[in-house]
Order: sequence, then C-alpha cells, then structure tokens
Amino acid sequence: VTLVAGLDIGGTKTLAVAADASGAIVATTRAPTRAGDAATVAAHATETVSQLADAAGISVSDLAAIGVGLPGMVDVVTGQVRHAVNLGIDGRPVDLGRHVREAAGVPTLVVNDVDAAAVGALRLLGTGDDLAYLSIGTGVAAGLVLDGHLRRGGRGAAGEIGHVVVDPAGPTCPCGQRGCLEALVSGPAIARRWAVPAGEPLTAHLVGAASAGDPKAVALLREIAGHLASAVALLALTVDPDVVVLGGGVAEAGEPLADAVRAVLAERAAASSMLADLDLPARLVVLPSGAAAGAIGAALLARSDAAEPAGSAAR
Ligand SMILES: [Zn+2]
Repeated sequence: VTLVAGLDIGGTKTLAVAADASGAIVATTRAPTRAGDAATVAAHATETVSQLADAAGISVSDLAAIGVGLPGMVDVVTGQVRHAVNLGIDGRPVDLGRHVREAAGVPTLVVNDVDAAAVGALRLLGTGDDLAYLSIGTGVAAGLVLDGHLRRGGRGAAGEIGHVVVDPAGPTCPCGQRGCLEALVSGPAIARRWAVPAGEPLTAHLVGAASAGDPKAVALLREIAGHLASAVALLALTVDPDVVVLGGGVAEAGEPLADAVRAVLAERAAASSMLADLDLPARLVVLPSGAAAGAIGAALLARSDAAEPAGSAAR
C-alpha cells in the first residue's frame, strides 16, 4: 500500500494524516506549529512528515507524495509560499516545496489550506463533486471545487471573500479596508466583542449564552449569522455550488451556528421568491467538529499531482 502524507499547518496547530490509495486515514499526528521564520516553518514541515511516517510504521522515503497545506499565498507549480502572516512568512517568496521535497526525497505539493480543506470536505461529506467551503477562523475565505475542479483563479484569489466589504463603517481590517467580512466574523473579530473564560471555545460559548437568553449574546449571534448568510448568498449567487460548507474554528460550534445562519436565510427567502427558489437553508451544511478536512485534502491533492503533475484534474 502506498501512502501519501497530508499536512494542515495552522497558526497554532499542525494536523497530519497518512492516507492510503482509497483516501482512508491510516495514521494521524497532532503537534503545536513551530513558526517564526521561513527556515523554522520548513524544518517544522519536514519534522512533521517524519513523525507521521513513524506513526504509520514506514520510512519517509516510502511515501508516494507529500501535500502541505498552509494559510498563505501559494504557487502550486513552484511550491513557493508568500504572505503566510500567521507563520511568520512575509511577502518574500519561500521555497517551502523544494525544501521539503529535498529533505524527504518525495514529490511534494504545497497548497493553500482553504483549498485543501475544500477538497477534503468534499471527500468527507461524499456529497458529489461540487461545493463551496467557507472557512471561518483566524481568517475568512472560501475554497471552491466546481464540477470536480479546484478553482484557484487567475491570481490565486478565487474565494477570498473575507475581504469583501460588508459594512463600510465597520472596523478596519489588516488588509487596509474597513468592514471586511473577515473584520466582522473571524475568530479574533468575535473575541474582541465576546469574552469567554480561558479554555472555553469562543463560538460555542456565545451560542450557549444566546440560547440561554442573554440579550447581548442573542444580538451578537444574530449579527454574525446575518453576515454569514450574506456570504452564503454571495457564493450561491456567484458560482451556485451544490452545497455550501461551513468550517474553521468559528464553525466548531456546529449545528446551532448553522441553524442561526439558516434562520436568516429563511427570513430573506420569505421576502424574495428568487432567493426562495435557491433553497439555501437546505444547501448549507457544517463540517463535523474535529474533521481533518485540510490534511485529507492536502493528501488527496498531492496524490493526484504526483500522478499527473501538469494540469491535473484536481486543479
Ligand atoms: Zn480585509
């Protein structure tokens, strides 16, 4: 059995899986992310691969391919990464793909983490070959798999809807604009308005307080759900995917959050037969808590890229 490795390197945690040819996971490792500069991230990725190989009971060189997903701008052809701010990588391109490939001696594909999670979500949900994956975490962005093809876009910016301005009078965003979706519904944006006891999950705590009737929580949840409903409608009206999947740290709150978004979508549909025809509440799903969509997607993309490097079907 030839295994592929899939890494999901987040700002704080790294999850890695080894998957067989059917996409089934045979080993998993979790570790804190070591970041700070390009060399540290590259060493961290290489070390993660060797820990994963140990866990799977194989040598690194036995792997058929390695997929590395991370939050940044990625050139999938060269394996160069830029603007992975949470990992300490700035605008200067870092040869992450080449570094890991040379250290491991295995074909390596570097991918954007949200793109990887979109591909992984498709596999986990088994709903077909068409979805938009809306990641709501430290950042906000969508990954698009359309008719089985991952849509990266001409400039790699397909799905970067976190920087659509939804409230021009809203808070400033690190991107330079005001009132971006990300500045309103990301984990850090919610944390600035809703304090939780140390160790408590942010959105689950907010949802719990809202269902217990706390008026401040009810109002904030309603506002967040309204912005997320707009994002779902934006995706549906732009590319009309079969399903829109909520994922990322904020969506760990699960069905209660999805229900709040569905309620807003249903209200808007009641006022618009055009929207009602789109049946958006029924097309919204939330990724199960703890699902390794990013790591699985990175593994799947790496396997298809190793099999067919130029213009592979999964691109
Ligand atoms: Zn922005």
